[in-house]
This record gives sequence, C-alpha cells and structure tokens, in this order.
Amino acid sequence: MITMRKSGQTTLSALALFFAQSLTPVSAAEITVEQVLADVVALASDNTLGRAADGDGIKIAEQYISEEFKAAGLQPFFGQSYLQGFNLFHYQADPFSVAINDTAISPEQFFAVGSADNVDWDQDNVTITRIEKDDDFRAIVTGLNSRGENSLVLVDSVHQQLFNGFANYLKSGTKSLTKRNGNALVLVLTDTQEISQLSVKGGFTQQQVTLNNVAGVLKGKTRPNEYVVFSAHHDHIGFQGETDSGTDTIYNGANDDASGVSAVINLARFYRAMENRERSILFITFTAEEMGLLGSEYFGKTINADEMIAMFNIEMIGKASQFGPGKMWMTGMERSNLGELLNRNLSEPLKQSDYRIEADPYPDYQLFYRSDNASLARLGVPAHSISSTQISNDQDYHQVSDEISTLDFAQMTDIIKVLSHVSQPIVTAEQTPKRIQPLPARSQGYFF
Ligand SMILES: [Zn+2]
Repeated sequence: MITMRKSGQTTLSALALFFAQSLTPVSAAEITVEQVLADVVALASDNTLGRAADGDGIKIAEQYISEEFKAAGLQPFFGQSYLQGFNLFHYQADPFSVAINDTAISPEQFFAVGSADNVDWDQDNVTITRIEKDDDFRAIVTGLNSRGENSLVLVDSVHQQLFNGFANYLKSGTKSLTKRNGNALVLVLTDTQEISQLSVKGGFTQQQVTLNNVAGVLKGKTRPNEYVVFSAHHDHIGFQGETDSGTDTIYNGANDDASGVSAVINLARFYRAMENRERSILFITFTAEEMGLLGSEYFGKTINADEMIAMFNIEMIGKASQFGPGKMWMTGMERSNLGELLNRNLSEPLKQSDYRIEADPYPDYQLFYRSDNASLARLGVPAHSISSTQISNDQDYHQVSDEISTLDFAQMTDIIKVLSHVSQPIVTAEQTPKRIQPLPARSQGYFF
C-alpha cells in the first residue's frame, strides 16, 4: 500500500517501479531520480537566466531539450529540426501626450495599448466612450478590446484602482502571433464631461522576435497518425535588473516548469523502449506559456487536432501535493473521461491502496485555462494539465525563490513513473478518451 511519507524518504518509488514492471509487458527504460535531477539542473540553473521567451538564456534550454530528444531516439516532428520557430510581434507604447480642453493630462492619468505607428487624434476623428461611476469598467474595456477599433475612453475616477491595475498589466506592451491592425485604445482617468478640445499623440514600436517550441515524435506502429501528446512549457519569466548584482534576480522556474519539461524528456526516454507502441507519441515543450499560452496557441494552428488523441500537459510537479508525495491531480477532470481511464489503469496494481489521480483541488484558480492544455482543449482535444503544486500556498510561485533546492526529486520521479504507467493503454490504443467540448476561440483584441 502506498502511504504518505513520514520523514525524508519516499516510500512510493519502489512500489511505483514494482507495478510499472510487473504489469507492463515491455521492458521500458527506468526513470531515475538522477536523470530527473540532471534535467532540472540543466534547465533551471542561473545560466538560463530565467528562460524568458524573448531572452537569450532560453536558447540554452531549447538546445538541451533538442539534444535529449535526439538522444532518446525521437524524430523531429516539424521537418528537419526539433525546433518549431514562429514570429511574435511585440507592441510597446512610445511616449504619448494627451490634452483635454487645452490642459495636458499627466502620464499617470492615461495609458495606451495598440499597434498604430502614429496616433494623432482630435475630438472629431476618434470614437469617445465614457465609463461612468456606476458602469462596469471591466465589461466595457473587454468589449472595446475585442472590437479592436480606435477608441478613447474617459474613465470616472471612482474606477482608479481597476484603471491602475490595467495600466500596470499593460505597461510592458502587448504580444501577438499576428501583425496587429494598426489601431489604438487610450484610457484617460478624468471626471471631465464636456470635451471642447482633444489632442492625443503618440504611437507604438513594433518588435519582432522568433521563438521556438521543441518537438520530437516516436512513430506508432499501426496508427502513426494518432498522437498521444506529452507536453510542458520550457519558458519562464526571466530576470529583473542586473544578474550580477549580488542579490537573486533570476526567476529560475525550477518547479514552473522545468519539472514538467524533465517529465516530458524522461517519458520520451521511457517510451522509446516500449515495443507495443501502436499510436505515435508526440513530446513537445512550449515557449511563451508565460506570455499567454502563445507557443501552444501557435502549435494548435499547425496541426490537425483530430489526430491528437490525448494531451498530458505537465505543470509544476516538483513539490508534493496536498494529497501526499508522489500524488498528482488533473485539471478539468470532469470535461473528458481521461482521468477516469487513468484511474482505471491504476486500479489493478494498486487495488489495495488509496492511490488515485485526483481532481484539481483549486477550482477557483481556473487552472484548466491557465496552462498550455487550454490551447488544444479549444480544439476539442482531451487535453489536461497534471500537477502537484499547492498553488494556494506556494510561496515560490513566480518568485525568484522557485529554485532547484526547493524541489523534492523523489516525489517528482514517482509522479513521472505513475504517468508512464497509466498512459500506456492510451499509447497501445486499448483506450481512447472522449473528445471534450471545445472551448470558445480566443478574442483577437489588443491584449487578450
Ligand atoms: Zn507553468
């Protein structure tokens, strides 16, 4: 029986290995703590500089993943390369000036978002909207955002807090997979009702960067065009200020999501040795997850989603879950029967135990929408994230303290082993999870 660990040592490893070997009619490579640790060290050490998608350090991680995919015997999924490159457009506001009724507005009282080279508005050539005291700020801004037209919004000062929140969120500009239409949205915090004179001048600088997903495949024997997907994201949020200042400024992202990337690499090593691989297995790590799931969104545009049978997106498995070390939970469990199948696959060897893959215990966090599984779920793929992080009290989440030293590699290895076990009947095509109800398409507005 699997029990929660009492002190420093895990009790799950040996058992997980035991049932993986005893039930699996193939000899698969063993997943070891040493390999898992080595991957995380390669991905999350300071030299990768927090792996910002548009930074330099992430290239080290991409090269490492490519080399490990190659060493694991994967073929490139996209043409000749393990890298799937794509363009990302970044729009940053230049200094703007705004004057109303011949009075200049101070820069803290307005912000601009958009993609226009040149904005030169007066009271006659732009649509003006007012958000009054009792209006729903969020709803109006969201509506204007999704319409993507030129628009000036005068915001009653009662909404100052939300206004500041949006301004702060948008101050580093916006990013898009496609070239934007050249419009702008400018919000001004003012109680002025009558506009006799208006002047808004400014523009946006466009930068284009190339980002890379990393993908390799093990081809299936009899159903090569049906894919079981294991994924994670290899980007994180970079660093702030100077990296050699003596204080820690690097957001290593050891748990988020070097842990998941290591799982993907180790599952590739594991499955390479599997004989009865009827379906193909796609191993992919996404970039720009932290910029809004952009790497996986791009990937979703380049595939036939009907060929994707299931997606295991692995997010933050480096620390023990509230259910105990080695135990995982899954987002959106109720949306498909994938979780039910996985638990069925556990039930035989662990019949006497309390081991099960749990439903996401943090529904308020909307985690189903907050990782790359959502990009394929939008297309109807039974795509879920697997995690163990205690998101409601994880003090290291998106902090510089998300360090390698905070991870529990034994429990993390256990999770990967269990995954390697429960996913096998999907790979051998004995099981096919039901498609999920596709999520609505993303809005094509300025900022989401
Ligand atoms: Zn993440």
